[in-house]
Amino acid sequence: MILPLHEFSLAMQLVKVVERKANEMGAKSIIRIKVRVGLATTIVPEFLSEAFNVAKLGTLAEDAELEIEVEPIKLSCWNCGNEFEAEGLFSKCCLCGSVGGKVVSGGEVIVEQVELKVG
Ligand SMILES: [Zn+2]
Repeated sequence: MILPLHEFSLAMQLVKVVERKANEMGAKSIIRIKVRVGLATTIVPEFLSEAFNVAKLGTLAEDAELEIEVEPIKLSCWNCGNEFEAEGLFSKCCLCGSVGGKVVSGGEVIVEQVELKVG
C-alpha cells in the first residue's frame, strides 16, 4: 500500500495531537476522533483514513475510529464581497460573476471531537 505523503504526515500529526490531549486528560485510550476536512485543502479523505490506520499503530489511538466530515468551500468574492459556496477555488461568484475569492471556510482540517476512554 502506497501512502500519499501529504495525508500521512497529517495523520501522524493528528495522532500526536490527540495523544497529547489524551495524556493530559489521563485517558487510557482514544475511542473516536472526528475531523472536518475542507474541500479547499488537497487532502483526500479516503487517503487520510488509510494513513490514519497506519499512523495510529502503537499509540493510544490504536483502536480509535476516525470519522471524517467534508466541509464545502465557501468563498468571499474579491469583487463584491458576496459569500458563496463554491465547487473549487476558481468558481465564479453567483452575484457578479467574477472568479475566485478569499477562502472563508473549507481551507482547513479541524479536529472537531475526540472521545476518550478514561479509567
Ligand atoms: Zn461577486
